[in-house]
Order: sequence, then C-alpha cells, then structure tokens
Amino acid sequence: MTQIHTAQESARGPRDRMGRALRDLRISVTDRCNFRCRYCMPREVFGPDFAFLPHEALLTFEEITTLARIFVTLGVRKLRLTGGEPLLRRDLEQLVRMLAAIPGVEEIALTTNGSLLTPAKAKALREAGLTRVTVSLDSLDDDVFMRMNDVHFPVQRVLAAIDAAAAAGLTPVKVNMVVKRGMNDHCVLDMARHFRGSGHILRFIEYMDVGTSNGWRMEDVVPAAEILEQIHRVWPLEAVPPRYPGEVATRYRYADGAGEIGVIASVTRPFCGGCTRARLSSDGQLYLCLFAAKGYDLRSLLRAGAAEDEIRTRVREIWEGRTDRYSEIRTAATRGLPKVEMSRIGG
Ligand code: SF4
Repeated sequence: MTQIHTAQESARGPRDRMGRALRDLRISVTDRCNFRCRYCMPREVFGPDFAFLPHEALLTFEEITTLARIFVTLGVRKLRLTGGEPLLRRDLEQLVRMLAAIPGVEEIALTTNGSLLTPAKAKALREAGLTRVTVSLDSLDDDVFMRMNDVHFPVQRVLAAIDAAAAAGLTPVKVNMVVKRGMNDHCVLDMARHFRGSGHILRFIEYMDVGTSNGWRMEDVVPAAEILEQIHRVWPLEAVPPRYPGEVATRYRYADGAGEIGVIASVTRPFCGGCTRARLSSDGQLYLCLFAAKGYDLRSLLRAGAAEDEIRTRVREIWEGRTDRYSEIRTAATRGLPKVEMSRIGG
C-alpha cells in the first residue's frame, strides 16, 4: 500500500527504518576496471574470460541523469561517480555536464585509480562541473603497489594524476589507501610523510569483506586505532569534528598544522547509523548497502517507459523499507553471505 506523505514529509524526503535520510547517490558507470586490486577484483575471479556487462546493458547518460534527477527530488545532494574504473567510460565529462545541470545537486565527486586522469582530462571534468576527486593509492613503494593492483601500474603515474587533479581545481584531493596486514601496513608512515603539508587528505581504509571474491580474513585487517597510533607516535594528531552527519571518514589533523588525515573504519568502528548512501550499479540496480546481497531493478522501469513519478514512488518505497547495517552486524556467519561485488557498485 502506498504510504500517504504530508507535504513536509515529502519535502524532507524519505527516511529508512532507522530514520536515515537519502543524501548521497553513488553511481557506477562501468563494471570494468584496468586494475586488478587484490581486495576488490582479484585476477583469478576477474580474469580474461570474466563476463563483464555488455554495453547495451549499461545505463545511458540520459538514463543515469533521469534517475539522478529523481533521487535529487528525494533529498540527494551529493553524487559520486564510481566504477570499476569510471574513466574507462568514454566522454564521462558529458555525463558530468548533464548531472551538474540538475537543480539541487551540491557536489559531484569522482573516485578513480588515477590511471586515466591526465591534466587534459582533469581540466575537462572540472569545466564540465566536477567538484573533486578521490584517488586510490595503496603504497608509494612500486613493488608493494604493483603487488596490490596486480597490473604493474607505477606509483609515479598515480602521483601525477593527483597533481593533475589539484592543478585543475578538483580539490581537496582525497587519497584512499586500503591497509592490509602483511601487504602494505608497513607503508602507512611513508604515505603519511609524503602527503603531510600537501593539502591533500590521506584516508586510511580498513580492509573490508566486500563482495565474495577477495578471500577476506579478520586477521588481515589493521584496525584504525592501530594506524592512528602508529602516526600519532611520530606526528601527534588531534580529532576533528565531522563536516556533516554521516560523513564516512573520521577526521584528524596534525597538531603541527601539516594538514588532515582520515580513517574509514567499517570493520572496527561501523558507522551505519548515519549512512545516507544509496548505490546505483551501471546496469541500473539500486543497492542500499555496500555489502548488499541484492539490488532493485530501476532500469526495467526506465526502459518500460515508466513516468518519473512512478519511479520516484518506487525508490521512496525501497528506501523507506531499508534496514541495512551490515557493518554493525558483521559476524563470522555474515561473512559467507552472498554480497554484490564492490566493482559493480563502487566503494
Ligand atoms: S555497511 Fe552498509 S549500511 Fe553500513 S555504512 Fe556501509 S553501506 Fe552503509
């Protein structure tokens, strides 16, 4: 039964079963990537015979824009473009321009591995309306980084992409480092040292049991507390209050003024209570959690010619039924559950 909403409730936008609003939409524009990061797309699963989505299965830029417009009317203010590797999708700046024209959009961000972020591309994305970028970089040590991305892509080219983003004004540039014990946990201080005073914000991400193919084990997780302690011993840190409710990273600044870092501690400090994020896969499935087992098909509605109001009502119903809080209920039993692959919906 369709719930009757007061004008105020409609204006406020839907709340899920935990009272969480819908504020952020992460849009995956492709399930393909040119890296094979061990914690996301291990080569043994995503090998040469892996059946990626055919082009016609992908939402067109027009379809993505229509859905984004609907989500904005339900309260979304931040859009994030993800993948796979989003810059593999041709003419992405065209999509950015279309999204930037939607009234109510406050920010359009992009998460990328940097491999295709040249100065010209960064400039074109900025001019199209992109606000800022997050670049993934798991080590400054070429051997370690190449072992983690498994395509032998050099660190220098990712650092050049970060410079290109900053030069284009896509700031603050955030740099995401996934920390895995025995893989790159010995690189934490080097990364901190490199980005101190740079103006870029380095975030340390706890290794997560995303999807079902990365062989996740709890013993491979380096807790945020341990990472912070390692840094604090060398460069004292101070906690910084969140910019807004539901901010993903917990913020810290160097007491000596050398800038800010963050930790994203989904395993040891879950933050589901403030999670206002929805995720759209590149084939038009709506996911309510990074660790969701199933998505809701919006593409069929779109391609069947459903009116925007009808789709809006459907999205509102789906969100109002949301109870997801995987990180809060993660146990040995939940680890084996089927979960969508992160490369399908972005981080
Ligand atoms: S585990 Fe799911 S509900 Fe919790 S913060 Fe992450 S995406 Fe949100």
